[in-house]
Amino acid sequence: MVLHRAGKPLRMEHVPRPEPGLGQVLVRVRACGVCRTDLHVVDGELTRPKLPLVVGHQIVGEAGDGRRLGIPWLGWTCGECRYCRSGRENLCDRARFTGYDLDGGYAEWAVADERFCFSIPDGFGDLEAAPLLCAGLIGFRALRLCGDGERLGLYGFGAAAHIVAQVARWEGRRVFAVTREGDEQAQSFARSLGVEWAGAGAPPEELDAAIIFAPAGELVPAALRAVAKGGVVVCAGIHMSDIPAFAYELLWGERVLRSVANLTRRDGEEFLTVAPLVPVRTEVEAFPLGRANEALAKLRAGDVRGALVIVP
Ligand SMILES: [Zn+2]
Ligand SMILES: [Zn+2]
Repeated sequence: MVLHRAGKPLRMEHVPRPEPGLGQVLVRVRACGVCRTDLHVVDGELTRPKLPLVVGHQIVGEAGDGRRLGIPWLGWTCGECRYCRSGRENLCDRARFTGYDLDGGYAEWAVADERFCFSIPDGFGDLEAAPLLCAGLIGFRALRLCGDGERLGLYGFGAAAHIVAQVARWEGRRVFAVTREGDEQAQSFARSLGVEWAGAGAPPEELDAAIIFAPAGELVPAALRAVAKGGVVVCAGIHMSDIPAFAYELLWGERVLRSVANLTRRDGEEFLTVAPLVPVRTEVEAFPLGRANEALAKLRAGDVRGALVIVP
């Protein structure tokens, strides 16, 4: 399913099977998770994709020797810049990203630099594993950046939040989910995963940390207002609408506001070790490859319980 121009639907095309280059592995795609970032690419909010492009960066694939490999968003880094040399390859100046700079997984076959692939833990089906590779992984990195505060708020309860909530509960945290007004489905889904309060507006008590998954800038002052002194607010998306001006008082008291960008391979290894221990259970809805545009439309409409997964 190929993107030719932002704002246009993906087109089903028959293209030659990709040839693996030096250090790359060819996989038969078994499943590819749908991420909000895919939408930002298709809708043109991320403005520099390679074109034509195959989107998708939560790929569970089978290599020629039968191994199940996970191909994430971080597809390549230079290994030489100051970020790469200081354990921060997620910030690499020359990083290439799967499904943006490199063809991704809305396809039957994909190639990837083997050094950036993960092995998929046993006990996860192909579909169930796919959302671990970005929703889970970036959510996990965001959770780490929250510190060890007990009361965690999740703003937006989609694919990432439904995984993070399970990890946070397993760590002994109390979890609060803030959803859109009247989104009963997301609220009851959150409660079914051990979230102690789910609703719209301000949580019933102060939070120690908050992760904002929804791409809505107005949630930033709202989350700052909800965290206690010393609390952390992490913006976990790659794109967000503008943040409205707010009083310095909301940041005062050593509150911290930060973003989370991409992932390191170490994040992936740590998360894929933790996920089977929790154990994380992902809720997925499958779409055949030819219906990828429908899956994207469903995500755009916010009408998703858990994660959407494309299956070739
Ligand atoms: Zn680098
Ligand atoms: Zn993603």
